[in-house]
Amino acid sequence: MRIADIYEKDEPVLSLEVFPPKPGYSLKTVFRTLDHLCDLNPSFVSVTYASQGESTNRTVEIASRVRDEYECESLAHMTCIGHTRQEVASVLDSLEARGVENILALRGDMPSDSSGIVRDYHFASELIAEIADRGSFCVGAAAYPEGHIESKRISHDLDNLKRKVDAGAEFLITQLFFDNRIFYDFMERARYRNIDVPIVPGIMPILNYKQIKRILMMCEVSIPAKLLNMFDKYSNDPGDLAKAGVDYATEQVSELVEEGAQGIHLYTMNRVPQIREIIFRADLREQM
Ligand code: FAD
Repeated sequence: MRIADIYEKDEPVLSLEVFPPKPGYSLKTVFRTLDHLCDLNPSFVSVTYASQGESTNRTVEIASRVRDEYECESLAHMTCIGHTRQEVASVLDSLEARGVENILALRGDMPSDSSGIVRDYHFASELIAEIADRGSFCVGAAAYPEGHIESKRISHDLDNLKRKVDAGAEFLITQLFFDNRIFYDFMERARYRNIDVPIVPGIMPILNYKQIKRILMMCEVSIPAKLLNMFDKYSNDPGDLAKAGVDYATEQVSELVEEGAQGIHLYTMNRVPQIREIIFRADLREQM
């Protein structure tokens, strides 16, 4: 089913993101995780993409098995930076052959050594246009409530978002954020610019200190005082920090649903118990 059609529902849509195991590690672990996550009845599962080596095939394999074996809709992520048109066409052919209907089309992160990395694509909008042209996929794209890390101004990033929707993106999933007010303001600005497709908040529970440091390095999102206090309070107690992280994400999700979010996309980090707890405590299963 096309994910754009899933968002036509009146109720908010629950989706869960998983990542493939690192190259060299068996796929069994992610399927054990999916056994539990799919029991939570998400409307779709998204599978991240790393463009090196066997990782590409892993995304295709997992996304197609989510559909076939778990009877759950899937969304395959795909990046284009560093790829040639031929390579992209070959991944699209594999996805089509395996019956995957939905793609989250991304540029991908620029490696720190970017020499020679730009081949046939510079921005996600080029990939989106190419996939949309094929006519066989429903395409989504990434959105950044606080602006993309490379953007000098949030307004530039919003111009880009409009470009991605005009190129054919039919729904948008946001980067994680920890202050819902940022999301509400972002929605207003996006709607003002006639970005009319569903914009779905992406939420990640913070479960340890290392994770938050990694996030800040990668995307520079704001940390509200309440979250900072939480880190201080539980800095010597990893167990309590993880519990507080689940509480925080549950509150965020409950409020977003109350405020009318069209969906909730949970970055699961392949964790089951914490994600299950958020879904149950925020009553997502009843509403979705
Ligand atoms: P783009 O939309 O191309 O934007 C990149 C930058 O270029 C932005 O600053 C934008 O404002 C600017 N820009 C775009 N077009 C123009 C233009 N014409 N002129 C000037 N500037 C322009 N990464 C992975 O490697 N694998 C994944 O599976 C993955 N999944 C993700 C899922 C979500 C929901 C999100 C939010 C991100 C994900 N990422 C993933 C990370 C993503 O690849 C990075 O954030 C990347 O740096 C940007 O990708 P993009 O598709 O948003 O790029």
